[in-house]
Parts: sequence; C-alpha cells; structure tokens
Amino acid sequence: MSTETPPSRADTVVIGAGAVGCSVAYHLTELGAEDVAVIDQGPLPVTGGSSVHAPGIMFQTSPSKIQTKTAYYTSRLLSDAGVYDEVGGIEVARSEDRMDFLRRRTEWATSYGLPEPQLLSPEEVTEHLPMVDEDEILGGYYSPTDGRVDGIGALQWYMEHSSASFYGNTEVTDLDVEGGEINAVETDQGRIDCERAVIATNNWGYQTGQLAGLDLPIAPVEHQYVVTEPMDELADAETSVGDNTTGLEVPGDRSIAEYMSEGPHQPVGRDQDHSLYFRTHGDALGMGSYNHETLSVDPEAMGKNSEEHQASVRGFTKEHWETPTHRGRDKSAKQAFDELLPATQDVEYEATENGIFVFTPDGMPAVGETAQVDGLWTGLAIWWTHSGGYGRILAEWMENGTPRLPSGPVDTGGIHVRRFEPHAGEKDYFVDRGAKRYEQVYSIVEPRWQPDDHRGLRTSPFYHQQKELGAEFYQSGGWETPQWYESNADLVEKYEDRIPDQDGWQGINRSKIEAAEHLHTRDKVSMFDMTTFSSIMVEGEGSQAFLQRVCSNDMDLETGQVRYSLLLNEGGGILADITVVKLDDEEFMVTTGGGNSPGIHGGHLTDEAPATVSVHVEEGAKSTIGLWGPNARLLLQRCTDADVTNDGFPYFRAKQMYVGDVPVIALRVSYVGELGWELWAPTEYGQRLWETLQEAGEDLGVRPMGGGALSSMRLEKGYRLWGTDIDTDSNPFEAGLPFAVDMDTEFIGKDALEAAREEGIDSKITPLTLDDSTDIMLSGRPVLKDGEAIGYVQAGNYGYSIDKSIAYTYVPTEYAEAGTSVQIQCEGETYDATVRDEPLFDPARERITK
Ligand SMILES: Cc1cc2nc3c(=O)[nH]c(=O)nc-3n(C[C@H](O)[C@H](O)[C@H](O)COP(=O)(O)OP(=O)(O)OC[C@H]3O[C@@H](n4cnc5c(N)ncnc54)[C@H](O)[C@@H]3O)c2cc1C
Repeated sequence: MSTETPPSRADTVVIGAGAVGCSVAYHLTELGAEDVAVIDQGPLPVTGGSSVHAPGIMFQTSPSKIQTKTAYYTSRLLSDAGVYDEVGGIEVARSEDRMDFLRRRTEWATSYGLPEPQLLSPEEVTEHLPMVDEDEILGGYYSPTDGRVDGIGALQWYMEHSSASFYGNTEVTDLDVEGGEINAVETDQGRIDCERAVIATNNWGYQTGQLAGLDLPIAPVEHQYVVTEPMDELADAETSVGDNTTGLEVPGDRSIAEYMSEGPHQPVGRDQDHSLYFRTHGDALGMGSYNHETLSVDPEAMGKNSEEHQASVRGFTKEHWETPTHRGRDKSAKQAFDELLPATQDVEYEATENGIFVFTPDGMPAVGETAQVDGLWTGLAIWWTHSGGYGRILAEWMENGTPRLPSGPVDTGGIHVRRFEPHAGEKDYFVDRGAKRYEQVYSIVEPRWQPDDHRGLRTSPFYHQQKELGAEFYQSGGWETPQWYESNADLVEKYEDRIPDQDGWQGINRSKIEAAEHLHTRDKVSMFDMTTFSSIMVEGEGSQAFLQRVCSNDMDLETGQVRYSLLLNEGGGILADITVVKLDDEEFMVTTGGGNSPGIHGGHLTDEAPATVSVHVEEGAKSTIGLWGPNARLLLQRCTDADVTNDGFPYFRAKQMYVGDVPVIALRVSYVGELGWELWAPTEYGQRLWETLQEAGEDLGVRPMGGGALSSMRLEKGYRLWGTDIDTDSNPFEAGLPFAVDMDTEFIGKDALEAAREEGIDSKITPLTLDDSTDIMLSGRPVLKDGEAIGYVQAGNYGYSIDKSIAYTYVPTEYAEAGTSVQIQCEGETYDATVRDEPLFDPARERITK
C-alpha cells in the first residue's frame, strides 16, 4: 500500500480502488505486470465507493455460466485470503412459482460446477435460519459455499498482497487520448503518462468514459439497506462493532462501514418473491431491498465524499421501505420482512442507507478493451460477488490476450464492453433499461421474455410489410425481428400431425406457427429477414493478406468464392464465425451475425487491420433476405437474368446481379440447410426486393419465415450460433469446426491450436436427442452420465423435420460417441437422451447442393 503522490508515469493506471480495481491490479501483478498504479479519489481503503458500504453477500448461482464461474473463483480467492465467511446461502420460496425457480437454480449450479446445491424443506430452512417463520415458506435452495465477503478487509488484503502502488485522495480529471490511443491519465495530483488504463469507477463509469469521449451505458441506481439494533434472537453471536474500522479514515457515516465489516454467523438469506435479502452482522440483522420503484441517479451527477455521506450513498428514503412502490410487488419491504422474520417487526434500525451501484442495459458487466481507444479497458457493473473472477479475466486478457480463469478460457460475448448497440450510450435509453434491470433483479424472467419500452427503435425496410403480415416481433440488438407471422397460422393445420404440444415453462412464448414455418420452408420456399446480420467491407491493398492473418481458414480465394471461417484470439478461442466473400481483387465482404457481432467482431477486424486496409462495419446499410427452400431456384430465376443453375451458380459462390430492378450481392449459402441464397441489397431497395420476391413466388408458395423457425432448422443442421454454442471458451476442434481451420496457413491463434491438437481435446460438442419425449430442453440445464454432470445444454429446440427434441452440448470426448446414453435434467424432470452424429438432418447435403 502506498499513499504518496502518484508517479508521472506508469505502464498501467487502474482508475478506482474498489473491489474491481483492486482485483484487476492484484491479478495483473500476479501475472507479472510491473509498474501498475491504482488511483482513487477517496481515502484508502474506505474510498466511498460501493465496495465499502455493501453487505458483501455472495450468492453464487446464476443462469449465466460466466457469472457462476466468476463467483466461485471469487469465493475461493477471498476464502484463501481469510476475508470470506463461508456461512452458506439460502433462498426461500414463498410461492409455487418460486419453488420451481429454485429447482432451476439447482440445475444451473449443477451445470456450472458449484458444490452440493440442494433443495430444503421449510423445517430444514429454519434449522439454518431460526428467525424465519416456517409457515411463510414452501422451501428453500441451499448453496453451502455461498457466504459473505468482508469488503474493507478484502480491499486491504488486495493492497497488501499486490506489488501495484495505490494512491488515494487523487481524482482523475481527464484522459489524454491521441490518435485513438490512451496517452496519459490527468489527475488533480499531476499527469501520469501510461500505456494502458482501466476504468473501474463503477458509479462514475459514465463520467469517466466521457473524459475519453466514450458513452458507456452505465446506469447508477439507489439501493436500500438497513441494519437493526442488537436483537435478542441473535444474542449468541459475538460482535466487535465499534472496533472494526479503528484507525481508518472513513468518509460519511462511520456506522455503515462498522456494520459492514462485522461478519455473519448464519447463512445469508434471500426472499426473492419480495425482492429482499438479509444477513446477520454479529447480533444485529442487516436487510436489503430491491422492493421499491427504481431510484435512478443521474450518471453525470455522482457526488463526492462529504461529512454526512460517502460519495455513493444517498439518504435513506423511508417511504420506499414502508410503502409498496415496486410495480411488481404488492407488499412493501417492511411488510414482507415483518411476515418472514417476525422478530424484526418492532426493532429500531441503527444504520440505514440508499447505497448506489450500477446496471448496464442488459444487466451484465462491461469488460474488455474499448473499441474507440486502444489501451483503454473497462471493468464495470461488477458485483462484489464476481469481482475476483472478472479481475482475473481482465488481467489475463490484458497480459496474455486471452480472457480466462484458471479453470480455462471463458465466453466473453455476453460481457464484452463492445457488445452494446450504437444507441446504447444515449442517456435516457440506458438509464431506463438499467432501471428495468434493477426492478427485475429478483424476478422470475420467462424464457424469451421481451421488454416493452424503447421498441420500434431499429427496423428493417421490410418492417411495414411484416407488421401487415402480423409479425410477432422480438428485439435483438435493438432491432425488431419477426419471430413468427400470424399470416402463416393456416399452415399449422396443414402440419398439425408433425407439431407436438409444448406445455409448461418450456412452452412459454412459443407458437406452433414457428413449427409450421419450419416445415413449410423444407417443403416450399420462405423469405427470412436477415437485415440484422452485419456486413463488414474490407478493402484496399493487402486486404487478402490481412484476412489471412485473422482468419483460421485459407483466404486464397477467387473472385466470387465464399468461405466460412473463424476469427480466433491468441488462445485459439472462437472470437467469431464469419463468411468471407471475395468481390474483387482486394475487395471482400465479411458477413456475420447481428446482436453483439458488429461491435465485437467488427471491432476486432478494425483493430487488426493495417493502414492500407479499410474496414467498414456496416450496420443496417444493407437489407438482406434469406431465400430458402426447394422452390428457391425457381423463384429466383423468375426475377433475374443471371444464371442461377447449379452449374452457373454453385454452392458457396457469390454474384453481383439484379433481382428485378434491385442490385444485390447474392451468396449461395443457407443457414437452414435448404437450397437458397442470401440476397444483400442496399437498404433503400429493401421494400422493392421483398415485393419482387413475394410477387414472383406467390404460386410457388413463398411465405415469410421468422426467427423461431430459423432456430430449430439451424439446430437440425448443426450450424453453430456464436455466443450460444461457440464462443471464446471453445476452440474449433472442441466446437466440431476443424473444416474451418487450415493449419497450412498462418493466422492469429494458430500456435494455441497446434498445442491443442498435440495435447488432444478433452471435450467436444455433440447433438443429443431425447429418447421418448417431445419437450424442449432449455440452455444451462445439466447433462448427466451415471448421475454425474458431464456438461450442460448450450441450445435446445424441437427438430420438426426429424421429429425429435434436440439439445446441443459439450461433453468429455469419452462420452461423445454416437449411441451413448445420457440424461438431461430440465424443470425438475430427468429425460433420457442419446448422443447422435451430426448433422441430424440431410447429412449428405443433398438439399443444399442440388
Ligand atoms: C447498498 C448496496 C448493497 C450491495 N450489496 C451487495 C452484495 O451484497 N453483494 C454483492 O456482490 N454486491 C453488492 N453490491 C454491489 C457491489 O457493492 C458493487 O457492485 C461493487 O462494490 C462495485 O465495485 P467497484 O470496484 O466496481 O466499485 P466501487 O467500489 O464503487 O469503486 C469505484 C471507485 O472509483 C473511484 N472513482 C470514481 N471516479 C473517480 C475518479 N474520477 N478518479 C479517481 N477515482 C474515482 C471511487 O472513489 C470508487 O472508490 C451492493 C451495492 C450497494 C450499493
């Protein structure tokens, strides 16, 4: 620990000395980084950030693998450091729906390797938590390794055990960016020249980003916590409140820091039905609440430490504790606690706060190097629970180019700071979406749940036609994307015998029309709106050589040739799967998915391109239709003079041609396993393209097709979906994509792949089909062999053409042999399933190549 004036130069400056900044600095130096300086505007270690006034409760189970893995890494690290109380965590159910939800939690925990997750009866809950009224609950979920971190103690531990230097009372006032690179960090104590900087300023994340011209979508919100007076029911607990922060400078209300530093002796508890949680602080009880209307804080108005308050604490608003103001809850926090923990009914509160922390629009952290400024990284919107893990991931990423934990590489698609849409940095937008995430934090969110605000923001040129056809829109990357069309309802009757009922939780937000659209596309022809997919134009001298360096496949292409390839990171993890089209000498179109792809994949290509190569990430500049099905050729030929016969336009070739009067780049590829083309047209021609195909194909049965049909069709063919079944946590061999790698070429990640090939892979992606059920398997549910978890469902859907329920999963190679029997647990049921060879549909590829 160091308190003198900051240096005039450091290799790396970490801004913010809270849970995240300290963890990043600790892990960077552990990995060998030298000259790391950590700066905080507040005193050390009690800076006034969220980390020093949070109760530090760590419930590790999450539907997200990376959240669960980072939580477990954090609890092990802090436990070894002696600043973690492994008292266990219990979540109670006060409704049948919540009991089902807790069952789901055991399945996620089993999938992601948390030890001994278990369901408890009401009696078992009260054995651990005697203050809980047994009659109020239906049961509980117990994770024995959950617990609580001593926040201030952990920050001290990091500072003592890291060779980084820490400087308190130093405010960062500007970020000096030149030529798109971070140059220096300006502070009120002087300038620090640097190679790299990390923004770990949490509530101030938006403000810090602004110093570098970035609109980071980080929404601060107030959150309520109270600590009671000592309670008779807890009298057996030892307490040292009053001595915990001796000798430390504590801004604002000292009692909060005092109580937060006092450990629990009983499991930490949650009542998510009422958006509440609790823990003991010695002989006092702490109670936290999301059970109030969201109290958003202006991201530009985060304050400073003062005599009354720490910088990220606001005054307690009693009305939000005592009256029901949360849209989805009928009881206030106080009422619900009074019922669940009757002993708290008349107690006084000795410490209260509206503490502040942050949410992104999708509720996940924002981690990685920013697209706009080289060398400027973020570690934002991370809870104490995950801070150790994300600090490790960030440090590995910065030092070695591969985000990973000691257990292996991790999937970064869902947490990458580059994943946000272009509009996400607009203040009203991200504050609203952050508020929604806060409100939802303990809600039971349905599969395929859709937000109802900020809709209609990004629409394709086909939007009005789609609305007329009764499209059911889902939002993806801000785009309105049809999931199915009511106008196709008549097809359900036609295919009735082939569409099983989907009931219960797995069937929520699904329509039989999706199935009918799937089957119709295999029989006739459909149009799928692909406008949300992105094209990236790569042009200029050296384009081919550049693509060869970033692509795992051979890029020595002829004009008009199309090739599927992967972009890999240094560790061989899959950064993206892309299709490369050679349009002309030194002119290429790279196509990739929508959602987070333009930012992450486009950003990677932009970063790696030499000065002579221009990389232009087009979002919405082209409107695209996937025209797929056995009648696709007949239909297309009616609209074009170009030769679209199999000889004239073979599979995996491209042509620039006209469809009616619309100029298109046509690619003979298909993501559904049918004969067909992707037709990429300039946006302004979109409507005409749609009308042209619709009119020409009427007697051929052309129909619009939505995303629901696409999902099940692509799974039957085993086409991978980045971010779902491939990501940076798998290499191409594990992901069953060796055909997308040419080891005779030179590319980023090749060394790692060579090592992987030599060592041999120990896990492999494989399809499973259910033996005797038509239920749909949900992602994140455990795959078992002889009662032991060997993997989990990456993606599941019904294969209407093969009449089987399909689940894709990675399993240890010894179980990847077709015919191996396994089980899948989903929604409390155990299903028998069998490993299958892929693809499950049309393995000879007759339909796409005919
Ligand atoms: C009431 C409450 C209860 C919570 N309960 C839990 C819980 O039980 N479990 C859990 O896991 N999480 C909990 N959280 C969330 C958790 O506390 C935070 O997510 C976490 O502490 C964030 O860590 P951080 O390092 O990102 O941020 P912080 O600890 O806020 O650190 C950011 C630092 O940046 C510094 N800084 C900002 N701007 C500048 C600048 N310009 N120059 C220099 N320094 C700057 C600040 O002074 C601050 O110290 C809770 C939060 C609150 C508010």
